[in-house]
Amino acid sequence: MWSVDRIAADIAEIGLPAGAVVLTHVSMRSIGQIEGGASGLIEAFQRALGSEATLVAPAFTPQFRDPAEWNEPPTDPEEIETIRNRPECFEAASSPVALPSMGIFAEVVRNHPKAWRSEHPWLSFSAIGSSAEKLMKGTPFHYPLGSESVPARIHDQNGYVLLIGVGQDVNVSIHLAEVWGDVPYAHRSARIRTGMDHWTPMQGSPECRDGFLKMEPVLRQARLLQRGYIGNAPALLMRQRELISMGIAMVRGSAEALLCSSSTCVHCVRARQFTKPSLALPPDTGLSSMHGN
Ligand SMILES: [Zn+2]
Repeated sequence: MWSVDRIAADIAEIGLPAGAVVLTHVSMRSIGQIEGGASGLIEAFQRALGSEATLVAPAFTPQFRDPAEWNEPPTDPEEIETIRNRPECFEAASSPVALPSMGIFAEVVRNHPKAWRSEHPWLSFSAIGSSAEKLMKGTPFHYPLGSESVPARIHDQNGYVLLIGVGQDVNVSIHLAEVWGDVPYAHRSARIRTGMDHWTPMQGSPECRDGFLKMEPVLRQARLLQRGYIGNAPALLMRQRELISMGIAMVRGSAEALLCSSSTCVHCVRARQFTKPSLALPPDTGLSSMHGN
């Protein structure tokens, strides 16, 4: 079992400075057992980075998106109305993050007594530390990972992204590069549950992240990644501003640069209708409608 002190030393060794703002994406299983579990990892960050630092984690709740727009797997059409009629609505103070997809570390951060959480019904974040309130309060409903969003505020603060035992395909900051790089598909919409029997169309819906894996060799070649280990887990540290700049450069080179290449990915197949408007539209799948252009 890893001690909290040993994990704190790993966090410092990868290059995170005291006082950093860091957006974390964590696989606890990859790290191996830590004294205190996910709470022990929070403590290790606090020991390594000090009281001025801010630890951020995604706290997404995709269950509050219209079930007709769910993917992987798509919702059984016969169940859509039943799911829509469930009584739950998003409550920033109490709605758990989606498990297992978000990971237990994200849920333990959200549930920490000193955590602040942003209020987006689908794409909220939580944070602990000196900038937590400033990062979390009053974030936008539309373009939830674009300007003024939590990732954009981390950019303002010159923060870091730390991937622990996970790849660039969870690196949600890259959606900010899609918005700021003005890719046509960044203007897609999604229907979000905003109250009992109340659904609001949200502009700027971020979708598939599988294509973000294509950033890894580019970042590596540009020497923008610091590599290390947190416990047993391979870890990658990057300056979020450098990540975003590189992502913007990639989508300005080709609007499809960050889309995945799977022919069965409904999101990326549809996104290409925006980047190549001359292509015929695929059959309607009932997934997210797109606006813009
Ligand atoms: Zn895709």
